[in-house]
Amino acid sequence: MVSQTVITKNAAETQKLARQFSQRIKNGHIIALYGDLGSGKTTFIKGLAAGLGIKQNIPSPTFILIRQYPLKNRRFFFHIDLYRVSGVELAGLGLDEIMANHNNIVAIEWAEKISHRLPAQRWEIRFKYVNENEREISFSYKNH
Ligand code: ADP
Ligand code: MG
Repeated sequence: MVSQTVITKNAAETQKLARQFSQRIKNGHIIALYGDLGSGKTTFIKGLAAGLGIKQNIPSPTFILIRQYPLKNRRFFFHIDLYRVSGVELAGLGLDEIMANHNNIVAIEWAEKISHRLPAQRWEIRFKYVNENEREISFSYKNH
């Protein structure tokens, strides 16, 4: 497992990093994001979506748990935010089907809430608040 850690100095740098990261994303990839509120997960996902060619704005705090954006060739990008989801609700969201579909690229905030259901192969991205403008972002790709 190869890991990489980067410190970004503002939100724009985090989005640029995410756009670069998007080039490593392939169909069927699952991207699990971890980190406290305000640590930059959604900011990163905005850059990731832009890198994948999505022109729409990606809304930030939301009561909608799952948002779906079309990509080329009948593929989809899913942005899932589990922050407000209770354990009972989790079962009915259809997450397993979304993650199993190789036409989907799926980014999940608060992925620890479904740690036991995440596929063995996945990206793990951890966000840490350093100070008001700096965030430490660690990437790894888990194979098993
Ligand atoms: P989360 O989804 O983890 O709760 P958000 O991305 O919604 O976090 O919020 C991060 C906040 O921190 C935004 O207001 C953003 O502008 C700010 N910020 C400041 N510096 C950075 C940075 N280096 N990377 C990402 N966000 C940053
Ligand atoms: Mg968020």
